[in-house]
Amino acid sequence: MTHKSFRLPESRSHYLPPRDFHTTHVKIELTLDFAKRSLYGACTLTFEPIRSGLGLIRLDARELNIGKVSVDNAQAEYEYDNSVLDVKLPDAVVGRHTIQVEYAATPNDGVYFTGPDKEHPEKEVQAWSHNETQAARHWYPCFDHPSERSSSELVLTVPKGFKVISNGKLLSVDEAKESLVYHWKEDLPHSTYLTSFVAGKFGEITQEADGIKLHYYFPESKREDVLRYFGETPRMIETFHELTGVKYPYEKYDQVTVQDFVVGGMENFNATTLSTNYYPDAASEEDFQTSYSAPHINAVDLVAHELAHQWFGDLVTCLDWPHAWLNEGFATYFQVLYIEKSKGVDQMRWDLSSRLEEYFEEDEGEYRRPIVEREYVWPDDLFDAHLYPKAASMLHELRFVMGDETFFKGINSYLKSFSYSNADTHDLLKSMENSSGLPLEEFFEQSFFKTGHPEFEVAYSWDEEKRTAALRIKQSQRTEDGSPIFKLPCEIVFYVDSERLRFVVNLDSAEQTLTFMLPGKPSVVEFDPQRWLLKKIRFDKSLDLILSQLEISKDAWSRAEAAQGLGKLKSNNATPGLKAAALSEQFWHVRATALEALGEIGTEEALKAIVDIGMPEDRRVRRGLAKALGAFKHEVARKVLLDLLEKDESPYVRCEAALSLAKSWPEGAFPHLRDAMKVHSPNETLAEACLDAMGKLSDKEVKRVISECLPYGNPTRVRIGALKAIKGRGFILDEEVPKLTDILLHDKEHRVRLYLVNQVVRLLGDRRFIEEVREASELDQELKVRRKALETYHELAGSAEHSAALTKLRAEVEELREENRRLPRSSG
Ligand SMILES: [Zn+2]
Repeated sequence: MTHKSFRLPESRSHYLPPRDFHTTHVKIELTLDFAKRSLYGACTLTFEPIRSGLGLIRLDARELNIGKVSVDNAQAEYEYDNSVLDVKLPDAVVGRHTIQVEYAATPNDGVYFTGPDKEHPEKEVQAWSHNETQAARHWYPCFDHPSERSSSELVLTVPKGFKVISNGKLLSVDEAKESLVYHWKEDLPHSTYLTSFVAGKFGEITQEADGIKLHYYFPESKREDVLRYFGETPRMIETFHELTGVKYPYEKYDQVTVQDFVVGGMENFNATTLSTNYYPDAASEEDFQTSYSAPHINAVDLVAHELAHQWFGDLVTCLDWPHAWLNEGFATYFQVLYIEKSKGVDQMRWDLSSRLEEYFEEDEGEYRRPIVEREYVWPDDLFDAHLYPKAASMLHELRFVMGDETFFKGINSYLKSFSYSNADTHDLLKSMENSSGLPLEEFFEQSFFKTGHPEFEVAYSWDEEKRTAALRIKQSQRTEDGSPIFKLPCEIVFYVDSERLRFVVNLDSAEQTLTFMLPGKPSVVEFDPQRWLLKKIRFDKSLDLILSQLEISKDAWSRAEAAQGLGKLKSNNATPGLKAAALSEQFWHVRATALEALGEIGTEEALKAIVDIGMPEDRRVRRGLAKALGAFKHEVARKVLLDLLEKDESPYVRCEAALSLAKSWPEGAFPHLRDAMKVHSPNETLAEACLDAMGKLSDKEVKRVISECLPYGNPTRVRIGALKAIKGRGFILDEEVPKLTDILLHDKEHRVRLYLVNQVVRLLGDRRFIEEVREASELDQELKVRRKALETYHELAGSAEHSAALTKLRAEVEELREENRRLPRSSG
């Protein structure tokens, strides 16, 4: 399979911008006008020229209405084209100087004003900033690049009753007429994109950890759930201190949730902003997940991720966006490490693997790219599954290569060497090499600068006479498009008479055979049983080998793989082993996988085994049970699924039951799904799952439910559920085209626009939308939507060319046939 390219015709190479001055301090003084969704005031930059003879300062400033510009308090000349502000310096300056710009703006990026409208009267009035990657310039003039670090100060005037949360210390809150003036100051130098504010009405709870003051800000309606969301922050702060050897670097840590936030969370400098969508409630807390379709995503992980950024991203910041993985890969890996500390190594391996599924999906379905990538349209393009889970997984591999001691020593030295400054991938390489004495450039090259991952094909044989086990290991990935043959250490484990024999081998060629002298014939043969490596693997084993792996392997990950392997064999002989595992296995994921494998076997015996097992107590295992039952078009399965859908205490078990009921009983599921949709669940996850399930049903009523759930005014996830139903149906009805076109071009919710373009139009390859998709790629306010629209546009246009070429070919063939018919027949 060839992979699609990340590089689009619009992509450009990106290197550091030239700079001839350095900003030392930014003071932003603004008044927020909520009614007009605009702001006005002044920004004062203190700067130092880098070289002598500087006559001009160039600042990024997007669509600001500029009033007056002064240098050192004297009016200055300037030129402005709505994108770049050139300020003339009176004389060639040396030393520190200030530029003050007075301006007003109605930003369409960088600052968001949200509030009630006709369809959502319940919404609160809020304003908040979100700068990453290049949106600071939409609300104040600056050198808008991660390599620019300065201290900052924010003086913000808001209506009475509002709170303002920002970076650093709150110096004062003054009353002025109908307003409050909040004055915040951050003395530590930080990157431009980490400057932030949030303004709104919030409740507040404080805690303390490691001598740090923690503040949680929330909408009053969520007070009961605040500690479900943020309560583990103290333990996380201590854990990250312990792992990095670097204490939490600031005096306070604020976390504030806002409605309609554009991402899940943003690690603004000691003042993280997060979405209100992820509050667990009493019914869902135990599930430890926030979306039925991605069980590994949950509020606690999100909190850990943003907190980890306070070290990786904020204390040490990527030098430039091509190295953004130093922010996101580390933050993702440290959230995974927090799981290892708080929930154990098995849960950690499950979590990292689940995250990697997003990477495999992107790699196979969207594009393949190196983690350090310079060619993009907008830097936001890089914030994908290569940047988060794949980069985290490469750090996990690096830990395996280096060993825990030197890996964490290297991280400590990296953080200490680049504190309050910027680093690139080579800086990390040097820190890791110095701390371990290992040459690591080749590993970094294949992991961060090249593409892909190893695809192993492994074959095992036993020579009774020589008492040797042989493993033939092939790396079968395509190397034509730049993916290498990987050089990696790998654990090989044999169990001989219940003794675990571990070998570490070096994999370094496209095909190699390794032999191992053993005391006897092994009952289990394992390749990377602790799942250190990012890989795909095909390792066909006999039924006996897999059964004993499930039974006796000491590694839960390997037992889960065995259960999965047994499901693929689709043999009744695997049923007793799977049933035993589903009943008595220690780790929940293996029990759930064993149940799912019984579903995959799909025979009457397998169904009987599932029923005999009874109702699992663990919610996550009940999800496995619900999933398994979807495979049986049988009354017994249907009855259990209906029970789970209507009565289970976990909203996520109900979701899984909804999806399975549609598979198990397509002719009867509809009224039950329609009723279940009305049951409230966190973030309306159950309604979304029911709609998703309806995509598989042919009931005439489904069309009507979709059209009721699609319009703005419904909860966001319900609208996305309606889009999932259309995607599941596999085509868009003519009558739906105008509504979808309107959503694509004018909808208020970017998540709905994004899902529509990327998951519906793109996957269905619907060329009726090609013009609107092109328009969205140019005009949408969210760069994430523009990027996916651009990819979709090129795919649709490519398939148009492809089908035009096919039509032409068909016409040519027809013509040839016609000519043939006209040729004189030879006699005879
Ligand atoms: Zn992040």
